[in-house]
Amino acid sequence: MTPIAQTWIAGLGTAAGLGLAAGGWAYASLYPGSRIFGSALIAPNNPKELALTFDDGPNPEFTPRLLDMLAEHGIPATFFLLGRHAAAQPGLVRRIAAAGHQIANHSFSHPSLARSSEARIRQELTQARDTLEQITGAPVKFFRPPFGARRPATFRIARELGLTPVLWNAMTSDWSCPSADQIAAKLTAKIEKLNRRGRAANIVLHDASHLDQTAHRAPSLEAARLLAERYKPTRTFVRIDSWV
Ligand SMILES: [Zn+2]
Repeated sequence: MTPIAQTWIAGLGTAAGLGLAAGGWAYASLYPGSRIFGSALIAPNNPKELALTFDDGPNPEFTPRLLDMLAEHGIPATFFLLGRHAAAQPGLVRRIAAAGHQIANHSFSHPSLARSSEARIRQELTQARDTLEQITGAPVKFFRPPFGARRPATFRIARELGLTPVLWNAMTSDWSCPSADQIAAKLTAKIEKLNRRGRAANIVLHDASHLDQTAHRAPSLEAARLLAERYKPTRTFVRIDSWV
């Protein structure tokens, strides 16, 4: 995600009202709930389920701490890894997989796939998929576009490569380093709203940054711990693949 995407999501009411005429391309390209440029897996109608998903890793400092927390609570998660970061940390990728979490594709180098050629889209997805599969020896079946950004070719190519596109329905700007309490409070409000609508929550947090492997992600990890503690007694944490 970027401030651009965030702005569009914040301005959604206006964008949706204007339809595709003015700014509609950005709505179709960036809004997670839009199906205009193809459908993606978000979450089923099951208010008892939560999926914790982590984007942009693996990160040598924060991903191991996150794995420890998830193990402590005995909950699974889905990791949308960057091929570039995975290639630099193959042992960590194997550790994520060995712990029973799901490994998924978040492109190789995190470009906007709304602004990339078809050849580039194919190359980014293939290179990341091949990197992850060579490291873990297991097929990779899910893909989340960087920034959620897509154009019609993005999801079509993903599906041609055997990858199911995944978006989300619960995210806040955890990457901009607000406090863990702020991140958890905003996500909790979204989770509760989804629950009232009978929907499961597909929650995005970041255990790394696509820009800077020294980015501080402790607040995101602490927010994940707060959500685990809050919801473990009454909800079920699942991997994304349990929804297909
Ligand atoms: Zn990302």
